[in-house]
Amino acid sequence: MVLKIILFGLIFFVIYKLVGGKLPTFGGQKNDALSKEEKRKIDQDTLVECAKCGTYVTYKESIVVKDTIYCSKECQQSDAEKRG
Ligand SMILES: [Zn+2]
Repeated sequence: MVLKIILFGLIFFVIYKLVGGKLPTFGGQKNDALSKEEKRKIDQDTLVECAKCGTYVTYKESIVVKDTIYCSKECQQSDAEKRG
């Protein structure tokens, strides 16, 4: 019965479209969001080296200017003055 197979496929397609074109996940989404949050937290606490004086500061405490990391505003300003 080919018609039955086509009908089954059509129903499956409608369900597939209903879930937003994504295959349904079973409880995995919440864990995924949590791990992302956890990862961000780790990133914030990662020690980074100051480009000016070499002091290690956590990423959340650092000042990032044009992909250059500084430990404090003083270091950032003195380096900016040096560069002109
Ligand atoms: Zn510094």
